[in-house]
Amino acid sequence: MQNTISREKAIQLISEIRDVVERKVELSKYYGSAFLESNEEKTELEIEIQGVSNGFLSEILCAITGYDIEVCGEVEKLFPCPCCGLRTLTEIYNLNEGTGYDICPYCNWEDDGTTDIKDYRSINRGSIEDYRNKIQKNHNKYYINKWFEQ
Ligand SMILES: [Zn+2]
Repeated sequence: MQNTISREKAIQLISEIRDVVERKVELSKYYGSAFLESNEEKTELEIEIQGVSNGFLSEILCAITGYDIEVCGEVEKLFPCPCCGLRTLTEIYNLNEGTGYDICPYCNWEDDGTTDIKDYRSINRGSIEDYRNKIQKNHNKYYINKWFEQ
């Protein structure tokens, strides 16, 4: 049986299930306190999950419920990371507007406006090239269908 739900409902459902898990299990023991830090405007989960594909949300729902659930709805449009190229950043580096320094949740590169891939950046303790090599060496750690390519 194939169920279809909206993206909004999918996020709500995952959020509620996570709440239950958090009440049953002391997740902070496993993830550290940063995991449970709350944000005034959006929940931790909403921030974590923005810009991810509906297919990825379907996979989470299938993993936790066992049902084949199709998630429909418009995905938040994020900016491409200058390092891995996936759309993971809520803002892009712009000196004039004072934006940037988003950390890519996929490759961990901190967007400091660097475009030269061989440029060593102390803020990142490496170059874009170093980070790209890291991705190549750790296939298993990285999702393929979670984020959108440019
Ligand atoms: Zn990245």
